[in-house]
Amino acid sequence: MNPIALHAANPGPMTGTGNWTWLIPGRVPTLIDAGVGETPHLAALDEALGGAALRQVLVTHAHSDHAAGASAIAARTPGVRFRKMPWPARDSRWPVRWERLADGDRIEAGDEHLTVVHTPGHAPDHLCFWHAETRTLFGGDLVIEGTTVYIPASLQGDLAASLASLERVLALVPARILPAHGSAIDDPVRLLREYLEHRREREAQILDALRHGAHDPDAIVARETVIAHLEKLEHERRAARRGDVWTIINGD
Ligand SMILES: [Zn+2]
Repeated sequence: MNPIALHAANPGPMTGTGNWTWLIPGRVPTLIDAGVGETPHLAALDEALGGAALRQVLVTHAHSDHAAGASAIAARTPGVRFRKMPWPARDSRWPVRWERLADGDRIEAGDEHLTVVHTPGHAPDHLCFWHAETRTLFGGDLVIEGTTVYIPASLQGDLAASLASLERVLALVPARILPAHGSAIDDPVRLLREYLEHRREREAQILDALRHGAHDPDAIVARETVIAHLEKLEHERRAARRGDVWTIINGD
């Protein structure tokens, strides 16, 4: 399987340098994620298809940088199917007929098959697509190399679900993750472990802040930020700690 990376041409504050979508050419030309309908993305898609008709778009989740391009693709490609796990409140934003995917579904894509893996956390409808023969996972927003993935509590993000999803994907022992943001991940087991470790560390820090009397999110964030600075100063030998008491080191 030779997926082709097509950039969605949508850099911005929420997407960083922008999204990657993945075209799987073959008998059932399949695009993973819709982008947002930017002209350069649509042109790159046409060129990569080389005259073949796109048959389906598999959408990892209903955040707009992954789903909004469905309208533009539908307008240009009669008969193309749009498939995702339902999140009705969000899906209705885009005037296409979404077909339902569920965990464990086997989908024909290109000349092969992908298996649907439900990976909620970042979004309740989040799916990854697994190609078992090459141990390749199309990862959507599950993990991003070099940064963390935002879990938006106000948009049904769910940290516990995210941890379970990371564990589940780790158990697949993927050889490669092709994400929607950042570079392709050639060492996914390491990155998945780092994510799990990072989330556990954050949890420990938050419990520690609660124990020390920070009782609302702003106070917890403030305490964590200050401690991070103090630890940097300690590392630079500009501050010293005795228990919870910090002092400046002479010369600063
Ligand atoms: Zn997202």
